[in-house]
Amino acid sequence: MREVPKSIRTHIGIFGRANVGKSSFLNMVASQDVSIVSPIPGTTADVVEKPMELGAIGPVVFLDTAGVDDATELSESRIKRTTAAFSRADVFVVVTEADCWGEYEEGLCAAARNNGASVVAVVNKTDVHGLTDGFRQKISAFTPHIMACSCVDGSREAALAEFKKLLSDAGAGGGAQRALVSDLVPAGGLAVLVVPIDSGAPKGRLILPQAQALRDLLDGGAVATVVRDTELKASLAMFSRKPDLVVCDSQAVKRVVEDTPPDVRCTTFSILFARQKGDLARAFKGAKAIAGLKSSDRVLIAEACTHHAADSDIGRIKIPNMLRKHVGGDIHIDVFSGRDYPEDLERYALIIHCGACMITSREMSARIRQAVSKNVPITNYGIAISYFQGVLDRVMEPFGLG
Ligand code: SF4
Repeated sequence: MREVPKSIRTHIGIFGRANVGKSSFLNMVASQDVSIVSPIPGTTADVVEKPMELGAIGPVVFLDTAGVDDATELSESRIKRTTAAFSRADVFVVVTEADCWGEYEEGLCAAARNNGASVVAVVNKTDVHGLTDGFRQKISAFTPHIMACSCVDGSREAALAEFKKLLSDAGAGGGAQRALVSDLVPAGGLAVLVVPIDSGAPKGRLILPQAQALRDLLDGGAVATVVRDTELKASLAMFSRKPDLVVCDSQAVKRVVEDTPPDVRCTTFSILFARQKGDLARAFKGAKAIAGLKSSDRVLIAEACTHHAADSDIGRIKIPNMLRKHVGGDIHIDVFSGRDYPEDLERYALIIHCGACMITSREMSARIRQAVSKNVPITNYGIAISYFQGVLDRVMEPFGLG
């Protein structure tokens, strides 16, 4: 199950004060040493990720976070990393110990509430102090999902069974993700995926957005064909019927739109992901800000993963070149990738985000909320490129936005 993309796993954040046994708890659940366990407070400096299969809950990824209530010199970066994990967690597991529930734990519950996540409270170290009725009652004001646990001398099987039940009661693993593309092509319908194979294409494989779209179409019972942009026209002529949808890589969108009959719907992988992970109408609206950009403006290009940038890289080369051409001169462009997403978004006139295939819709939605809170328009690679190429209305038409 390790191959299940992280973006479709349930994210379970393990939060709590330093040294309440968060890592020990995770190690017990995972039955291996995932995190460094030490009696010295503040040993987990970064967020440690552990993907695993959790029975009926399905594929999950645990986020083992640092306790941020300590005063070590690393505390500022710990706080940042731990609070950044708030926007990724579908469930907050708040680990604590007997009679230790105060402002800190209540703050975690508030963060969960603000992010639409549920809370499971784990009262650890019951080999030292048991869970009293009074303490359980105090916690129950914040969550009904409470368990007592000892990572030292308890039964792992019993604790794991109880934990899985609480996760299930808290809604973990039950959330259905919006379809990527299968709702646009009926079962038995025909979709054509257009994948340019240029020097930037990775050797011997499709990239994740292409593979996920293909799989979603197959799951929906559609007939899916994959061709290069150079063969699209000839392929369409070979088919005895018109496709229900053509999906292409953003960088080939101009040619693909030209080669696709006007009565065949056409869009890009990036736009499909903008719809699945975020807010397509907002991203479409955000593209309108491109028209007003000036050379004195600053634009943020944000990618949700880190990858080796080729000479023809979309985020670092192609979109910046299109922006410069559009404003008729230089323009300040910052590129952030992976987990890095700046806090001072107000500096930007526009954010252009990648399709975000590697992160969950919860995390992408949090990025959009941050932009909205700073009044910064946010759009998406496929939408921006289609705008520059003059084909935006055509590729948004399948969603009623063109
Ligand atoms: S840059 Fe974005 S869309 Fe491209 S692979 Fe990474 S996460 Fe997915």
